Amino acid sequence: MRGAAWALCTAHVATALLAPPSPAPKLTQRKAVLTVGTPLNWPDALDRLAYVREHGIDQFIEMWRRSQTLTRDDDLLWGDEVEYAILRVTDKQAKISLRGPEIRDALATKEEAHSYRTEGCAWHPEYGRWMVEGTPSRPYGGYAADLCRVERNMRLRRRRLLSELAEDEICPTLVTFPGFGVGDFATGCADLAPNGPVARSESVPDAVIHPHPRFATLTKNIRARRGGENVRARPPRFVDTKTPRDAPTTIEGLDAMAYGMGACCVQVTFQARDSTEARYCYDQLAALAPVMLALTAASPCWRGVLAATDARWDIISASVDDRTPAEDGRGLSDSDDRLAGSGVRQLPRSRYSSISRYAFECDGPAGQVRRFCDVDAPIDEQAYNKLKAAGVDEALSRHVAHLFVRDPLVLFEGLIEEVDDTTATDHFDNLQSTNWNTVRLKPPTGLGIGGIDSNPAEREPGWRTEFRPMEVQLTDFENAAFSVFTVLVTRVILAFDLSLYVPLSRVDANMRRAQRMNAATSEKFYFRRQLAPNEVSEAQKFVNCCGGDDDDVFEEMTCLEIIDGKGDYFPGLAPLAYAYLDHIGCDGDTLARLSTYIELVRKKASGEAVTGASWIRKFITEHPEYQQDSIVSPKIARDLAVAAHDVGLGLRPAPELTGGQVIRPITRSGAWDTRLSADKIPTKEERRELLARYARRGPFRGAQG
Ligand code: ADP
Ligand code: MG
Ligand code: MG
Ligand code: MG
Repeated sequence: MRGAAWALCTAHVATALLAPPSPAPKLTQRKAVLTVGTPLNWPDALDRLAYVREHGIDQFIEMWRRSQTLTRDDDLLWGDEVEYAILRVTDKQAKISLRGPEIRDALATKEEAHSYRTEGCAWHPEYGRWMVEGTPSRPYGGYAADLCRVERNMRLRRRRLLSELAEDEICPTLVTFPGFGVGDFATGCADLAPNGPVARSESVPDAVIHPHPRFATLTKNIRARRGGENVRARPPRFVDTKTPRDAPTTIEGLDAMAYGMGACCVQVTFQARDSTEARYCYDQLAALAPVMLALTAASPCWRGVLAATDARWDIISASVDDRTPAEDGRGLSDSDDRLAGSGVRQLPRSRYSSISRYAFECDGPAGQVRRFCDVDAPIDEQAYNKLKAAGVDEALSRHVAHLFVRDPLVLFEGLIEEVDDTTATDHFDNLQSTNWNTVRLKPPTGLGIGGIDSNPAEREPGWRTEFRPMEVQLTDFENAAFSVFTVLVTRVILAFDLSLYVPLSRVDANMRRAQRMNAATSEKFYFRRQLAPNEVSEAQKFVNCCGGDDDDVFEEMTCLEIIDGKGDYFPGLAPLAYAYLDHIGCDGDTLARLSTYIELVRKKASGEAVTGASWIRKFITEHPEYQQDSIVSPKIARDLAVAAHDVGLGLRPAPELTGGQVIRPITRSGAWDTRLSADKIPTKEERRELLARYARRGPFRGAQG
């Protein structure tokens, strides 16, 4: 019986394979634009919240209606996002360097000048003033060869970022800098005193927040909505042999949004052919998210203390939690009709969380996906009724109405009633972009401005799914491997018509397990063992959610079993990826490259390659200055940051991290093109001096050694 499921999935290949996509459209470069305007403080915003919530739904419905009437069969386009930390280093200490916006602007200007190149980067502002985010300037296309662009583009990003740094700056891809929040840890700004009016943090100055007013307002309004109380994350403390017995069991003092939003991750966004496919991928990736979080875990240290966890998720979740005491059950608070749910509707999760509902509407009997939606997912009734009345299906209505149990956090004067609901989606985006879940369903953009039916080559993005759980890795090889692996898994799921559905309560359990120490090799995860249904017609798509009876479809598996397979009934994601590549006829060179990525993921699951968290933990605990007391001194934090930077640049080997893969060194050299200038060398003296220098030289022998 168990063997039959796998036999059936192979039989599916022929019918369900993705047709080779047409050439990737030439997309106009989308720039990182932040609205500049005056954001409203919370007391002023309160009276306008309902307007934004209500019109956000209208805008979604308008967009949805238009996307229904226009047929669209989009190509696979996809892209990653990598976040970097910029630090300034002396012999003794590293500090966060608050030059992020300045560096981003300089990079953006140079990218603009290089836009004639097909391969380029785009640089986006981040919450932290010491951070920048980089993406490819144009999304990757739907060919196997595009998968080889990923690491190349990531390396170009690192090279270009490096070229903009001062001599004493570094840009490691560390999830968190362990010295963040300890003593005098920032540089590059005049006022670095903590206890500022925005975050009111005892350890973090307001200057670490990106200077665009959106970010400070977000910080302030989250505090205000909570009832004036600081956010607070409490990761469990790792207890070492000399950790004082009376030390708190948690790491204290994480009292600012920056502790969480300052954590760096790698995200991947895929365009689906249509909304059905995007919603289906959303669900599958939500179930996969905890496994990928465990495999990429790389944040074992917070505020100078080793944690007993390996990943960032719960810390960010707490650091942006805007729930009132009544909403999260920590106390009582007054009902206020201006707030969503009057501020007293019970909300079981922070707005940064795993998902509460699957988004796909199963066309099987009685909507079978619904039986896996077994966690509390409150909805805004008014929004729900409006969506249903407009003809939006049950699952999508619930998905959107669940986003709208939150309030918009940043409102800009002049951009509220002024926004045209028939052409813009600002109010919908406001809620959407501050519901930070493991996956995000991104609807098409530009529907109102002729984007959709204009020249397909200039199309605005269609329905996309964004995968958000992964922690950033120290090397681009690892970041590329996990990004490519994720896109391959989505192809496998679609081509083999598989399903990863497990009840969401199990996904929640998996998220808790994924953050534990060494989860990649020590924990088990609820995973679907019956990936394909036993009996479906070849013509049906996305029917797997209906197969199997509840108690039999999933079981606990290790990451290695999930990646490599278990018994004769669960094929494993890596063999499926290879089968898929075989099926599409992937060429040998590409396959060789891709197999290094698939193998890295397998090695992370088997322990042959360690996770970033294990590597960092080992570096810290083996540092000569470490006292076995859980404390990570400024000098240890500094040495770690420098080592991480060097590993990223291929200057310090870390085969245990990369599974033996050698990272080719990255330097500033060649970051930007050198123009073959025809401009006259300005003065006679300069020309003469230059010629004289080269006239004296012997023949150039560099190439012959
Ligand atoms: P956000 O921060 O909102 O998640 P970003 O613009 O930072 O979005 O990153 C989005 C990623 O999606 C980038 O890697 C980009 O290359 C990629 N991308 C751009 N257009 C498309 C598209 N049409 N389909 C899929 N991915 C796209
Ligand atoms: Mg981004
Ligand atoms: Mg980002
Ligand atoms: Mg993103």
